[in-house]
Amino acid sequence: MSNSPQLPSRSEVWLQTLGWQPSLEQERQFARLFQQILQVNQQLNLTRITDPQDFWEKHLWDSVVGIAPWLLHGSVTLSWLQSLLSNVSVDRALPLRVVDIGTGGGFPGLPIAILKPTWQVTLLDSTQKKLTFLEQMTAELGLENVGMCCDRAENLGQHPSDRESFDLALIRAVGPASVCAEYALPLLTLKGYAVLYRGQWTDKEQQALSAVLPQLGGELITVAQVNMPLSQGVRHCIYLRKHQPTDPKFPRRVGVPARKPL
Ligand code: SAM
Repeated sequence: MSNSPQLPSRSEVWLQTLGWQPSLEQERQFARLFQQILQVNQQLNLTRITDPQDFWEKHLWDSVVGIAPWLLHGSVTLSWLQSLLSNVSVDRALPLRVVDIGTGGGFPGLPIAILKPTWQVTLLDSTQKKLTFLEQMTAELGLENVGMCCDRAENLGQHPSDRESFDLALIRAVGPASVCAEYALPLLTLKGYAVLYRGQWTDKEQQALSAVLPQLGGELITVAQVNMPLSQGVRHCIYLRKHQPTDPKFPRRVGVPARKPL
């Protein structure tokens, strides 16, 4: 283990960029998560991002930045965070039911489960093999607030006990924004939020998304553009809120949202 690459703690960067720092225990869990992913990656390709700096930035920091509105307290001085917090007003004390749609190697869901032990996080993916490994990892990390669900988002959204049962839906690298919205909004309770994690974000994408949201009962609250702290890459977090029940015809049958986006 001593020869394996070590994850940097970067606690000063957390503070500078998000006005927040992980506790020592959370840092230890992040480091264990990194080691576990490296180990599993020898058998199953969970992620291509295995360099310690890249892992810290592109998996940990990137996962956490999406929930900044639920994380921050006190006064933040960074202008993008101030603007985000003034748009997305949430009760930070409330424990949330969260679904990470298309979690893959556990991102963004696992880092968030580490940060928010009172939240109940469901990792949803259509590939059982990935979930089997994620289940082993969460057991080894001692995370008791994580559940696995092997299904398609289209099925879960039509399942009576899962539809409208989550307060927050997270979705990264699963498809075009309008497809992600069709997966996420049916799963949300009224007033629930979805966070779409995107790299680049264009006016065209925003127009396409805005055009479909009324059918799904959602509204676009804000788009936060963030600069990544190490590589200076640009990321966007799109915050949607459900303000009306979603029409029962959504999500459409398995495969249809991706094949024929709204
Ligand atoms: N979210 C992770 C990340 O950002 O690192 C993984 C992204 S990976 C590119 C996309 C994942 O979404 C895959 O693991 C795939 O199995 C899953 N997926 C794609 N479409 C899905 C659907 N309709 N329902 C559930 N999972 C889906």
